[in-house]
Amino acid sequence: MIERTSRVRGVFCAALGLLLSLMSILMLMLMSLSCAAPAQRGAVDPLEDSSRQRAMIDGIAAALAGPMKLRTPEQALLVGFEELYAPLTPAERDFMEAIRALPGGDPARGVETDLDWVRIQDQRVRSVDGEQTMSLQLLPRHVWQAYQAMSEAMKMDLGRSLVIGSGYRSPANQLFIFVSYMPYHGYSVAETLPHVSVPGASDHNRPERQGIDFVSQDGVDLRYSDAPAFEALDEYRWLVENAARFGFANDEPGGVSPWHWHFSGEREQAVEEPTLSPGTRLSHDLCVAKACPSRLGLRFRALISHEIHAPGSAGVLQRPASPKRRIER
Ligand SMILES: [Zn+2]
Repeated sequence: MIERTSRVRGVFCAALGLLLSLMSILMLMLMSLSCAAPAQRGAVDPLEDSSRQRAMIDGIAAALAGPMKLRTPEQALLVGFEELYAPLTPAERDFMEAIRALPGGDPARGVETDLDWVRIQDQRVRSVDGEQTMSLQLLPRHVWQAYQAMSEAMKMDLGRSLVIGSGYRSPANQLFIFVSYMPYHGYSVAETLPHVSVPGASDHNRPERQGIDFVSQDGVDLRYSDAPAFEALDEYRWLVENAARFGFANDEPGGVSPWHWHFSGEREQAVEEPTLSPGTRLSHDLCVAKACPSRLGLRFRALISHEIHAPGSAGVLQRPASPKRRIER
């Protein structure tokens, strides 16, 4: 009887041990699943094309538009990533971070708050739609001074100049523009990239080669959508022939965004001036291959160094009438 009782106890203990082992294994499996959950949330694929992701992009654009409108133009241009992300869910933040980390961008680049910024206000243009004041723009002081010198020279030659449609914007502002434009380009990263740079890739995010989008005093081209119209301007032809003397360059002459120039800081010498009689003004007609070798060299270098850069207007985005054609650099 005693022997039978001890056998029953042995079987019971073995069963209990097995049960405890199974429970331990089950606990370990549950723990590993719970640890893996955050990693799965972070594994966002911005190249995914799904209705769920399209809905997320719409949600992000809607969540950010309101707060961006409430900021002053200067605050919007200098917005940081954490500030931008404040209204977003963790999953939406992950998506934004995935866009920020796309190849070609510069995820480590933040907003430049310590530079000597010049606040450019009250620029006016008179277009077919009437007179309007451009939104506030920011430029590093040395770039502003170079622009002013170039602007004065252009006025001397043409009697008019170009205004600054877009100067510095933070990488976070760039990201806001990128995501806001994705719905116009099939919610596709690949289709949006030719129109908008990823954060850190745009000259507008990089004060060391500060990008400027020019607009004529007649409002060409306020929408950055009509490259031929801008290229037809005397102001554009003047830039092609003279901007290098003031340290400005366009990497894509004849490209999709003739209004976009950047400050290289390398100023080319004027080669014609000593040969001209007093009072003669420079014009592109005087610039021939023999007289302007350095300028032609610049243009040739530009032709072989095609770069897709990005975005356009100020801090608060306005939906373009023809979004497919619009180039934001
Ligand atoms: Zn630009």
